[in-house]
Amino acid sequence: MIYLDNNATTPCAPQVVEAMSKYWSEYFGNPSSPHFAGKIAAKAVAKARAQLASLAHCEPSEIVFTSGATESNNLVFLGLLLEGALSKKKIVTTPIEHKSVLNPAQLLGEKGFNIVYLPVDSNGVVDLDAASELIDTTTVLVSVQVANNEIGTIQPVRELAEIANGVGAVFHTDAAQGLGKIPLDLTELNVDLASFSAHKIYGPKGVGALYVKNGPSQWPWVFPLRGGGQEGGLRPGTLNVPGIVGFGEAARLAGSTLENQAHILLEATKKIENILMEELPDCVIHSRHVPRIPGLISVAIPGVPADMIADNLMEYCVGFGSACNGGTLGESHVLKAINCGSSISSKNTIRISFGLSNNIDYMLSAILKFSNTINNLREIIEGVF
Ligand code: PMP
Repeated sequence: MIYLDNNATTPCAPQVVEAMSKYWSEYFGNPSSPHFAGKIAAKAVAKARAQLASLAHCEPSEIVFTSGATESNNLVFLGLLLEGALSKKKIVTTPIEHKSVLNPAQLLGEKGFNIVYLPVDSNGVVDLDAASELIDTTTVLVSVQVANNEIGTIQPVRELAEIANGVGAVFHTDAAQGLGKIPLDLTELNVDLASFSAHKIYGPKGVGALYVKNGPSQWPWVFPLRGGGQEGGLRPGTLNVPGIVGFGEAARLAGSTLENQAHILLEATKKIENILMEELPDCVIHSRHVPRIPGLISVAIPGVPADMIADNLMEYCVGFGSACNGGTLGESHVLKAINCGSSISSKNTIRISFGLSNNIDYMLSAILKFSNTINNLREIIEGVF
């Protein structure tokens, strides 16, 4: 097996596993408990909070731990939904957000909010002129991701946040695919809210965070969850201490390797693209010439449906659409929105995503073999049809 689906999830780094290990049974205290065991756990959580804040360039007090980016995104929309009388009802987002943004937005649409989708070009980049027009004084929330999970396109988040700030709208960004992969300075970007996920950066699954500018006391709407008041009341519930410790260590590692990792992965991306273009000359690499997160190649292979690749090349663990779509190989809403439209591109697209856990030389030879096998597959398909 060769694992080329790092944008779906990454393996836990050994340092992360090691850091987490003693918080399962040795230091198992509840961080809210005032006694010694609780204090040890609380100290570990505080360290992780500082590690994540350091990577995201914000204050530790601005980090709220959650169960993942899905929950963080939902909190944003549900908080707004629960807010009573609102004079502003426009929510602006894009058609290529993750489903954990699109689906809550749709719910708010059903409850009387006006959901407006910013146009994106054929590379998935938001049209800033259209954004300036559509984000107006009736806008309560703008939500645009840092980077896309299917095609890797990086959005002009700073410019969008500025537009939103200019009209008094809250700006949220889903940064699950940006954190630890590209430099992310939340303070400089001037966003109000941002969502993160640990398992995209060699941390554990089921842990994430929500950045709230100036901390949870400045949360703009109603707290959607009620409980014991943890995380400033915004995300109550006993904290997942081992997971949070793992997230902190993953953030520390990402910060120390980010520059080097980006360089290695960008070089490897170029090599893989060259192999693909040479071996499969009619393939189409999505968003090839715009800034993308390193280590992600979304490629359409005409004549070879992705589900056939899934069935015949199972040992190559590549992505097909979004992994969060319940494992189905339906049409990708992202590819549809960037208008690569024809049945060739959308149904024939696979996503190759790799990271530091991949041996680059081994990966390059595997991609070569993969391309050759796809050519054989294509010959068979052409013979049959
Ligand atoms: N947003 C984006 C952009 C993602 O890629 C993902 C994970 N596929 C999520 C949100 C959801 O993250 P989590 O798995 O932590 O809920």
